[in-house]
Amino acid sequence: MIRLHVLIFLITSFVMLASGVYIATKHKIKNNKLNMSIIQLLVVATITCLAYTFVISSHVLEKAELAYSLYFVGIDWILITFLYYARQYTKIWHEGYSAPLITVSIAVLDSISLLCNSKWHHAFVLEKMVFPNGEWFYDFTISDYYMVHLTFCYILVALVVVILAKKTFTTSGVHRNRYLAILVLFLGLILLNVLYLFFSFPLDISMCFYAIGTIVIGYYTLLYNPKTFVEYMLSTITERMECALISFDENDICIYSNQFANRLFCPSGDKRIFEDRFKRWRQGKDTNSISNTSWNDIYTINDEEYRFDVHFNKIYDKRGYYCGCYLSFYDVTGDFLAYEEEKYRNTHDALTGALNKESFYEEVKKLLDENPTTEYIMCCCNIKGFKLINDMFGVDEADKLLVRCADAIREKIKPGASFARLEADRFAVIMPKVRYTEELFMTGMNKVSHYLNNAQYRMTILVGVYDIYDRDAPVISMVDGAFLAIDSIKGSFKNSIAYYGDMLRHEYMSEQKILGEFEDALQTGQFAMFLQPVVDMNGKVSLAEALVRWIHPDRGIISPLSFIPLLEKTGYIYKLDLYMWDQAAKRVAYWESMGIDDISVSVNISVKDFYYVDLFDVFTGLVEKYNIAPHKLKLEITESIFMTEKERQLEILNSLKEYGFLIEIDDFGSGFSSLNMLKEVPADILKMDMAFLSIDKNANRGRKIINTIITLAKALEMQVIIEGVETKEQLDYLSGTGADFLQGYYFNKPLPVKKFEEMYLQSSFIN
Ligand code: C2E
Ligand code: CA
Ligand code: CA
Repeated sequence: MIRLHVLIFLITSFVMLASGVYIATKHKIKNNKLNMSIIQLLVVATITCLAYTFVISSHVLEKAELAYSLYFVGIDWILITFLYYARQYTKIWHEGYSAPLITVSIAVLDSISLLCNSKWHHAFVLEKMVFPNGEWFYDFTISDYYMVHLTFCYILVALVVVILAKKTFTTSGVHRNRYLAILVLFLGLILLNVLYLFFSFPLDISMCFYAIGTIVIGYYTLLYNPKTFVEYMLSTITERMECALISFDENDICIYSNQFANRLFCPSGDKRIFEDRFKRWRQGKDTNSISNTSWNDIYTINDEEYRFDVHFNKIYDKRGYYCGCYLSFYDVTGDFLAYEEEKYRNTHDALTGALNKESFYEEVKKLLDENPTTEYIMCCCNIKGFKLINDMFGVDEADKLLVRCADAIREKIKPGASFARLEADRFAVIMPKVRYTEELFMTGMNKVSHYLNNAQYRMTILVGVYDIYDRDAPVISMVDGAFLAIDSIKGSFKNSIAYYGDMLRHEYMSEQKILGEFEDALQTGQFAMFLQPVVDMNGKVSLAEALVRWIHPDRGIISPLSFIPLLEKTGYIYKLDLYMWDQAAKRVAYWESMGIDDISVSVNISVKDFYYVDLFDVFTGLVEKYNIAPHKLKLEITESIFMTEKERQLEILNSLKEYGFLIEIDDFGSGFSSLNMLKEVPADILKMDMAFLSIDKNANRGRKIINTIITLAKALEMQVIIEGVETKEQLDYLSGTGADFLQGYYFNKPLPVKKFEEMYLQSSFIN
């Protein structure tokens, strides 16, 4: 029969062993010194407990004595491992090895000494005491050395207490309890031990307290404490979260709401309010059959509108039973406003608040798709010479004007229509055809234009109207159509409206055709250089003007007037001009190679060329490539180059002139800045068209003008070419004016190069 107290000690040992095994398997001990220390503690305590169990169950005194020694050794090691545990738990003196080495060394020596007790009995003596009822115990008498052992044990105890106390008092707040709990527990164990020593029971039950204490410490350190700490942290986090959290149990009773939720929905904190609201929140949402869902809601709180992302989640336990649910409300008002603002910025023009081009195109498509039975028109308008307004009145005034334009349009159009500022001064409106009247637009525009009109300036707004008959066509072509109508209003000085009709449509189509064919035509050599002779007063041809002809495979020779303005408008002209200049330079070089070096060629330069190519590089490159003198190429420019970036253009012309090219001012007198041009441009030759002077109709005045201009040119050391000479009378008259050269149908039309050479250079070729 096992005696009861032996059984208790055996069970205690088993429980400790089981706890150790549980911790070792449940927690990853490899990387965690704290777990390791608790396992060590349990193992050592188990061995110690078993040793004591042996003492109280063994009848053989010698064996009991040895087991008792082992028990004391165990106490040493329990304290050593506890010290190790305290260091790991508190992270005080947990690094470094010198102090542990000393305590461990003393513990080893003490252990050896204790184990030798059976030989010398220097620590204690056991004596078996048998009671009359047959019970027996070992009586334990201490010797001198026992005090050494005890002192060592209390030093270890003191170290543990110091470490735990230090940590307890240096830690603040929620963490202090972690250390205080262990300290109190430890002190309690020691106290029980002291009490036992004091009362000297026959049975050392303090071992059981140690065992229970060790298990409690293990549980507290590894399970309870981290869990409560995590709970504390989580509840603090949820309290402080910038979203409202409300949770309900399985009966829809509100069990938790964080501060944010209270502030938002229920300042009084009365949870029943949440329960009432919960019913409303769930209305219309299928929260019974699904485990989570989300939606957007708008709430007015303190008269302000808030937008929330609401999430509803159900919680189930491990076995899948419903436990409750929670709602989270994220305030997305800021994001929503930022998104709306960003959307507005991306779709609207910042200055006028009108739609921008891209969103207008989308809007038009949408309107047409959504209202298939409504007929629409596209109205576009722009301000004539808007650039001039910028220059005359300044950018701020021009901006104000655009805002007024937009406001005027906005005021006139009603829902079902839409408008945009496409760019600069170009506006577009799409509206149902039935609502359109000319007055609708003109009254608005007249009002706007009056705003700027003054003695020097009259503002003109032009409106183009395109009837959307082809709803599936790209919106851009509808807008193009309206602007094409505007282009057809030429020379108007009052606000005008034009309509995109069959004529315009036809013109538009043919322009598109030309542009579509242009590149290919250039590649396949459909463009030919024609030369028109320029004769001097003795009838000698020392100059020719290079004029382009498009030899179209189907349409025959096409006049440059049908495609040059279009190429200029679209910017493609430079491609053609580069080709023509090359042809001209090449021909001059060819003539030189044939021994003819008294003839040069004038080439035409379009104002757009200044923007698309580096004229200096191109022309110097050409004369180098063909090794010809620069004065053999005469560069014809018109006063249109003065329209924009005058300074830049002048700089280019000056550098070309410096290099040796001769500059001709073409069509002198056709524009408005001719005299200014004479002053500024370093030209060598002035070219004037008879047509501008209508010499036949108004003979006298025309002649006077020609004479004056020629005198002026001479004074500026320029030569004069009169072009457009068609009749003998004109020639006769011009002979006496001092003009240097004449050009015109009277002498010859622009001729194919071969023909020109045959007629004017033949003699030279033969020589
Ligand atoms: P432009 O530079 O003023 O060229 C003179 C135009 O007047 C030529 O028309 C020529 O054929 C025409 N013409 C010559 N003599 C007479 C005459 O006695 N009476 C009348 N009524 N006209 C005469 P074309 O060749 O049709 O060229 C028209 C315009 O096209 C040119 O005017 C020029 O501005 C432009 N152009 C022609 N070829 C080129 C080119 O290669 N590059 C550039 N950029 N423009 C060119
Ligand atoms: Ca010309
Ligand atoms: Ca001309």
